[in-house]
Amino acid sequence: MVTVQDRPLVAVFSLGGTIASTNARGTDGVTPRLGAEELLAGVPGLDDFAKLEPVAFRRTASGDLTFDDLAALAAEIGARFEAGAAGAVVVQGTDTIEETSFVLDLLVSAPNPVVVTGAMRNPTLAGPDGPANLRAAVRVAASSEARGLGALVVLNDEVHAARFVAKTHTSSPAAFRSAPAGPVGWLVEDRLRFAVRTERLPGVPLPAGPVPPVALLTMSLGEGDRLIGQVGALGYAGLVVESFGGGHVPSWTVPALERLAATIPVVLASRTGGGDILQATYGFPGSERELIARGLIPAGFLNGPKARILLSLLLANGAGIDEVRTVFADI
Ligand code: ASP
Repeated sequence: MVTVQDRPLVAVFSLGGTIASTNARGTDGVTPRLGAEELLAGVPGLDDFAKLEPVAFRRTASGDLTFDDLAALAAEIGARFEAGAAGAVVVQGTDTIEETSFVLDLLVSAPNPVVVTGAMRNPTLAGPDGPANLRAAVRVAASSEARGLGALVVLNDEVHAARFVAKTHTSSPAAFRSAPAGPVGWLVEDRLRFAVRTERLPGVPLPAGPVPPVALLTMSLGEGDRLIGQVGALGYAGLVVESFGGGHVPSWTVPALERLAATIPVVLASRTGGGDILQATYGFPGSERELIARGLIPAGFLNGPKARILLSLLLANGAGIDEVRTVFADI
């Protein structure tokens, strides 16, 4: 008979978020209160998949997580893998999952599955989705099929690649979408099916020191160049521009972007939420062709927040403009 001792070991890290949020008597609103052990205790049937190692790592709203927290988490996940864990689950707030999962995708080099999950409905509401999401995440993290795919995000019985996924709704349990590719897999009756197998992206070493600040600026109708002009003076080490469409900005902002791109890396992403930055289609002033010719670096399929993550981690490892350009060329 297979006992729980024979199951793969999965480390479960709790960081807070809606999934862990309840209210204390006499207070307004829910706040993160539950740790990994309490969260796991509320999920039936986990022994079927894994032996669990709960780790209460942080207890916060996910908007307060930092690069330092995530570098420490990546190091701790790596240490647990070396000590024998087959997979890891990270349980946190959904607001920043699209960024934190991508940080882990880049920083955790082992092939063991790293699965990030959370919940859209907190435990005080009718129909909280946390227990089902946590159960599905453990199922995926314990699976040998999930090895070598990079970090995954599991919610609503769907499996998403960290590099593609984004939160697209403020409250729906179906908030997570992967616009460029769709989910890479799904679960049904505890069966896990992968429709797509992603190859690992080249990783980035764990930062040895602080991660330099990188700004993210979304273009909008009639935007001027005042903010762009301030980026260098404010001490930012890089800029990601979320442009219109396939890589377009108001023509009058181009000189300021070109000046900045000569001094710090300026990456060109799209505000559309899906699709690659164009490289060779439009020739009007402010087009992608003009911006790339003037030194901006196309973000490939990465959305603005994810491009900012990659740029930040490259800068933290001492990359200059040319190295940043080379890395993004493969995205
Ligand atoms: N609304 C958030 C969540 O879904 C709060 C957070 O991200 O911490 O968990």
